[in-house]
Amino acid sequence: MKLLAALDQQLRDLDAQSLTRRLRVVETPCAPRMTVDGRELLAFASNDYLGLAAHPAIAAALREGTELYGTGSGASHLISGHSRAHAQLEERLAKMQNAHLESAKALYFCTGYMANLAVLTALGASADAEIFSEALNHASLIDGARLAKAQVTVYPHADLDALAARLQASRATVKLVVTDSVFSMDGNLAPLPQLLALCEQHDAWLVVDDAHGFGMLGARGHGALEHFGLRSPNLVYVGTLGKAAGVSGAFVAAHASVIETLVQRARPYIFTTAAPPALAHALLTSMDLIEGSEGVQRRAHVQSLVARLREALRLRHWRALPSDTAIQPIVIGANEDALRAGAALYEQGLWVPVIRPPTVPAGTARLRATLSAAHTHADIDRLAAALNGLEKELT
Ligand SMILES: *Cc1c(COP(=O)(O)O)cnc(C)c1O
Repeated sequence: MKLLAALDQQLRDLDAQSLTRRLRVVETPCAPRMTVDGRELLAFASNDYLGLAAHPAIAAALREGTELYGTGSGASHLISGHSRAHAQLEERLAKMQNAHLESAKALYFCTGYMANLAVLTALGASADAEIFSEALNHASLIDGARLAKAQVTVYPHADLDALAARLQASRATVKLVVTDSVFSMDGNLAPLPQLLALCEQHDAWLVVDDAHGFGMLGARGHGALEHFGLRSPNLVYVGTLGKAAGVSGAFVAAHASVIETLVQRARPYIFTTAAPPALAHALLTSMDLIEGSEGVQRRAHVQSLVARLREALRLRHWRALPSDTAIQPIVIGANEDALRAGAALYEQGLWVPVIRPPTVPAGTARLRATLSAAHTHADIDRLAAALNGLEKELT
């Protein structure tokens, strides 16, 4: 059949550019030591930054949640799927962001991808709106901007002057500046205080995607707004619950009128089955851990791991990006070279994902090591020694 032949040709073209991606089957819970395709590996590959994805207290809460609420929600939120567990979680999440927003409310979503589509399509619903999107934004923000009726302007990475000029020139009646807080493939932070000042000056929303900050940044783990001590009615906050929080889903926290707009208008909220209430119930325990002394200890441990890795790396050709977060990328350059490095690590029993275009710009293929509170100092030493040795061998 011609259709299949065309697909196979496209797949061969990807392969010729070293762009084929491969699924690996994990047989054990998410943890530093994983059994993958039958082999035990030391993994630096998850976004489980606090090591909560297999935490016994959250697992017990999930079991309790299924006893209380069963397995399925049965319907979308606006039909009959909105359970007490969802409502309790939303109240808790709103309280966590309360210091940073005015009239804070929160809305729970099945995934961060959907939360971002919801915010951008609902707030950018009019052709008179304009979305100002940071160049390194996550794919879900890019797709949300594409799906919105608003005009889209991409501004260069962290370039406040360029953004200011574009805001100044805009005739749009609704302006949305949209940014990751922690850039997912680089690990650095967006200049949120300066971005917020610009947004207030130009009467624009500032949509902050804190997928990699929620649970990790701020003294109580409340995320990027706590970290920077921000407060403004212009803020629309998106946090995800499948990364540091160790479960699944996401939430938007913002002024009650923004949340009500999402409930009334956002198609990725309205036209999908609500996540299992048991997940929301389990997330209440996850929030206890994040805000409590265990969260404080786990965040401090991750910081000590980051410092140890950065001190131990002795790279001359490869480039460890300047990141203070759990995301530690090492830029290698060409796709084939990055793949070779990833394969050599794998041979040594280390799993560090190789990130290639289009996820990152061409010529900046990289290893993206992510650290977790479940890693030990010895794990970090093993990673650093392997990277230092491989760089000598392969460059
Ligand atoms: C992971 C991620 C998302 C998507 O969240 P999911 O809950 O995994 O769908 C959105 N934005 C950023 C920056 C992310 O890293």
